[in-house]
This record gives sequence, C-alpha cells and structure tokens, in this order.
Amino acid sequence: MAALKGLDSNSIFLGNGSDEAIDLLIRIFCEPAEDNVVAISPTYGMYRVCADINNVEYRPAPLNNDFSLNPENIRRAVDRQTKILFICSPNNPTSNSFSQEEILAISGELDLITVVDEAYIDFSERESLSNALSEHTGLVILQTFSKAWGLAGIRLGMALADPGIISLLRKVKYPYNLNMLTQQFALETLSDNSKKEKWVEEILKNRARLELKMKMYRFVEEVYPSDANFILVKVQKPKKVYNFLVGKKIIVRDRSNVELLDGCLRITVGSKEENSALTEALWKYQMDFVETCDL
Ligand SMILES: *Cc1c(COP(=O)(O)O)cnc(C)c1O
Repeated sequence: MAALKGLDSNSIFLGNGSDEAIDLLIRIFCEPAEDNVVAISPTYGMYRVCADINNVEYRPAPLNNDFSLNPENIRRAVDRQTKILFICSPNNPTSNSFSQEEILAISGELDLITVVDEAYIDFSERESLSNALSEHTGLVILQTFSKAWGLAGIRLGMALADPGIISLLRKVKYPYNLNMLTQQFALETLSDNSKKEKWVEEILKNRARLELKMKMYRFVEEVYPSDANFILVKVQKPKKVYNFLVGKKIIVRDRSNVELLDGCLRITVGSKEENSALTEALWKYQMDFVETCDL
C-alpha cells in the first residue's frame, strides 16, 4: 500500500472498511458527552452513526444550495468542544467535490482534526489530498477498496495521516482487525492496478452516457454534475419513481427527504446492461404516466 500511495507505511492505517477508521477517530479524539464533531451536510451517514454510538454530539454544517462548501456554516457549528471536522470529497450523496484550496483553507483556520473522506476520489478529476499530508499534521484522509476496486465485500479501507495519528489508530484497533483472507485477496488484486483503472474508465464512460439519457425524461428536472460513481437527479414525484423502479427490481436511493435534496434520487452507475435496464424502465414509467396524465 505504501508503494501504491507513495507514502511511508507508518502514515497508513488499514481497517475493516474505512468505516472502522471513522469509528476509531471519534473514539480517539472525542470525550463522550463532552465533545462534538462537525460534518458538512448533507453527507455520508456513518459519521453521524459513529458519533451517536459513541455518545458524541454530531453537528451538521449545511452546504450552500448548489452544494458548494459554506465555510461560515462550518465556523458557526464549531466551538471549543469540536474535535473533528468531516469533509467528504467527492461528497456522498451530492456527487460534487471541493477544491484542495477550499478544504485546506477551512481546516487550516480551525484547530481540529480534519477528516477528508476520499471514498470516490478515483472517479474525480481532482487529485487526492494525500500530497498535502506532510504539511498538515491534523489532516486524515480516508480511502477504501469498496468503490473503485469494487471490493466492498472484503472490508478493507484506510486512513492516511501523520504517523502520530496512525500510531493512535493502531493502538485502539482490535489486534487482528484485518483477516488473512482479506489480506491475501487484497494483495492479489493490488498486484494489477490496471484492472481498477479499466473499471474506473468503464464507469466514467457509463456515467457520461447515463447523464445524457437522464436529461431526456420529462419528469427529470436536474442532473447534477458528478465526480463519483453515482449521479444525483432531481425528479418530479421521487417516491413514485422510486417505487416504480423497485417494482422492476431496480434499487436506487431515495434521498428526497434529505435537507437540500428535495426530489432527489441517487443512482449508482452500473454496467452497460444495468444502466440500460434502468433507462428502459424509466421510459416505461414515462409512457405509463403520460397516458394517465399523471407524471
Ligand atoms: C462507501 C463509503 C465509505 C465506506 O466504505 P467502507 O466500505 O467502510 O470502506 C466511506 N465513506 C463514504 C463517503 C462512502 O460512500
């Protein structure tokens, strides 16, 4: 991993998914019932789950309506008991990413651990912030094998950070958090980086096609630009679209109840066949409801 990331091995923590690192970071840096963590909102749900489980207050700092970073909202949420700031980039579920300058500006201003979750970095044009680690000792970067590598089932994620932080993660983790089967499988897979690059290329092509197609439906109001392996679309009657797709055995994520995400569905980019099944189902949906004038 060190060779692959161009980092020293004492700057890398490997965990049972990057979710393990999220939980450990909260346990290490936060005192239950006293400290709090701040996260951009909307974002990945596990930061809140881990904070709740550890009895640590969770404070969402809303993004702007266009999903850009709102430093003022972050500043307002932070107080002396705030120990961690979570910034997911590219962000799940808004699918956009934030520039390194923006992230480093806000994290440099606040005296906190800043966790930048790069689960979707391989699908973005932007570079990983890992090149900034040496100058930013409070920065923790999360990456995972669950997305671009397609290996969510082996449960392997990592935290990249200053050796001081990594040694804390290693002290608190269970002694044998990575089982041998995962290690063997990961080593085999890692020996051929070109496979991952081919998958990513394929997903990016399929994403572009899917974006184009989604724009053609009358009930689709907006297709947001994506830096991830999913797209966020705003539709009329999201629950109706969602339920129709479930009836066709196609599962998307209904995010329409989430703050800033009125009407939004999150759709994972699949294989060409999977995407065709989706787009055909949606034509069918449109035809059905054109007939009943109930789109
Ligand atoms: C999927 C995901 C993860 C976690 O993945 P693991 O499978 O635990 O490595 C972390 N962060 C974000 C934003 C994700 O979407």
